Amino acid sequence: MVELTKRVLVLCALPYVNNIPHIGNIVGSHLPADIFARFCRLKGYETVFIGGSDENGTPSEVTAQKLGITPKQLCDKLYKIHKKIYDWFWISYDNFSRTSKPIHHKTTQEFFLKIYENGFISEGTLVMPYCPRCKRFLPDRYVEGTCPYCGYEKARGDQCEKCGRLLDPDQLINPRCAICGTTPIFKETKHLFLNLDKLSDKLEEWIKSNKHWKEHVVSLALGWIKEGLKPRCITRDLKWGVKVPIEGYEDKVFYVWFDAPIGYISSTKEWAEKIGKPDEWKKFWKDKGALIYNFLGKDNIPFHTIFWPGMLLAHGEFNLPYQVVGLNYCNYEGGKISKSKGWGIFCDKIIEADVDVDIWRYYFTWLIPETKDTEFKWKEFVERINNELVANLGNFIYRTLSFIWKYYDGKVPEPKEYDERDKEFEEFIKNSPEKVERLLEDVRLRDGLAEIINIAIEGNKYFQEKEPWKDKEKARTAIFLSVNLCKTLAILMWPYLPKSAENLWKMLNIDEKIEWKNAGKITIMPKHKINESKILFKKLTDEDVERLKKLVTKPTPLEEIFGGENVISFDEWKKVDIRVGKVLKVEDMPQTKKLYKLQVDFGELGVKQAVSGLKGYYKPEELEGKQFVFLVNLEPKKFFGETAEVMILAAVKDDKVVLIKPEREIENGARIE
Ligand SMILES: [Zn+2]
Ligand SMILES: [Zn+2]
Repeated sequence: MVELTKRVLVLCALPYVNNIPHIGNIVGSHLPADIFARFCRLKGYETVFIGGSDENGTPSEVTAQKLGITPKQLCDKLYKIHKKIYDWFWISYDNFSRTSKPIHHKTTQEFFLKIYENGFISEGTLVMPYCPRCKRFLPDRYVEGTCPYCGYEKARGDQCEKCGRLLDPDQLINPRCAICGTTPIFKETKHLFLNLDKLSDKLEEWIKSNKHWKEHVVSLALGWIKEGLKPRCITRDLKWGVKVPIEGYEDKVFYVWFDAPIGYISSTKEWAEKIGKPDEWKKFWKDKGALIYNFLGKDNIPFHTIFWPGMLLAHGEFNLPYQVVGLNYCNYEGGKISKSKGWGIFCDKIIEADVDVDIWRYYFTWLIPETKDTEFKWKEFVERINNELVANLGNFIYRTLSFIWKYYDGKVPEPKEYDERDKEFEEFIKNSPEKVERLLEDVRLRDGLAEIINIAIEGNKYFQEKEPWKDKEKARTAIFLSVNLCKTLAILMWPYLPKSAENLWKMLNIDEKIEWKNAGKITIMPKHKINESKILFKKLTDEDVERLKKLVTKPTPLEEIFGGENVISFDEWKKVDIRVGKVLKVEDMPQTKKLYKLQVDFGELGVKQAVSGLKGYYKPEELEGKQFVFLVNLEPKKFFGETAEVMILAAVKDDKVVLIKPEREIENGARIE
């Protein structure tokens, strides 16, 4: 029988890009997903690791509003910052997309239409909170109040952070507008609903069939089913998001929680397009047998065990998650990480701190909140790095390789006859990958790393017992076996510490690929020349820690990042030359749909030419002989062979274009100032 290659799709919950990631974001989804994806690749599974930024909906809209910029400006810049941070951390996404891309909008609309056709969407009116002061409907999470279940006073209208329950804003006691504090009024508005009630039995059956899920995930999911699933609203009164493609809903967009998970599919599609095999995504989403692993924070568990699978069941053509890895929270020195309180460690600063990425990845792996909340502590950080990573793993590798350099000229020595201890150690090397593999298959990432450290400890013990420094001749076997264990360690540590693993691989100077099947094998042969050994991990000194404490614990306010985005200085303003000009002649440019060629008189400045997209808005005779306002010190630019020297100014809103006229006649060329 031919064993089929396992096919794995690793998905990391899409980070919302209205802020800069902190360590909780890295250890709570990106890093564990990356470790697992790397392991799958090492094993030779057909693996794709997908992510993207979640950009639609209220938080971007409101954040942008506060900063005085557009949601697009906000997301464009933050996407770049996020991407740079994940790349710096060696998070090996095969594709990291954006939910503002056309491919995502299209995929979401098609997905919706399919479940609409399948009869899982109904229409209803919703009484929505409306802030009379802000003059807008308030998105759920912009209503704050007291949780009706646990009494937490700062519960949001979509969810209580304290007890984790999903809420509707009208359930809150003492509701208030999160933007201005006014008590909202509740107004009726028409919306679309996903009929989760119709999907309840199917979902329950599916959840129960997932015997391999972690217990807390199953019990959370079944808890939701038991409480009874209700139709859930999937549209919102907003502008920034994916438009609803049916009549009567032109002013609404999809609720961000409806469109965001579809981002997994659209990002996989985009990946397939990028590699030039546009149908390849279907192998992961449609072929039975592909395994989908979702990595996410615990607040996301309900969405990935109920809401999203419900959507997938309603659609009917896509694979459901195979494993839902729900992670707890990572705290910082005894408190919850909070940007506004300046409490935590912030990733944009880490990447400037000049500390090797694997130092962070090593400690961060210990912080992956697999079974319970974890906590970053400076003291523990230093201890783990200095006493474990450097003293065990780093030390074993360095002492072995430098010994080869020092005493055997960089060539692996020929082993002598094996004694009992050598035989035992050879057996140990051969068996060492097995346990790590089992733990990684089971997504027990911390245990996997602990096991790797144990292997290094065993290596050190053997080295110590053999005392190779005492007799270089007798030492041959110990060094031969030790260098082979170094190779195995390089493979095993690659998912966790990819940069160091690759450096070690280069030092070992071997032709093999870093692949799981090569771990545990004695393949580095006598006389093989290794490259010069360097120290892989450096100890953290007190000065390092003092410097880091100052640097990485200061969040960068968004105002600082976006300050000046829309501001020009007084000097810049003085350079802008806007003048009144009279349109002498308007000629059609028949090769274009929108453009006219205008000759404009600016008095002393002479006659200049403009190329303006006014066709369809103004007839030539409406322009000729009239004065308008122009920007005149533009760098000339050609459009369809015609040079534009000046630019006519118009007010533009949606598809309306209105020109600006001086309210009385003035000399041509008069300056606007
Ligand atoms: Zn609560
Ligand atoms: Zn308000």
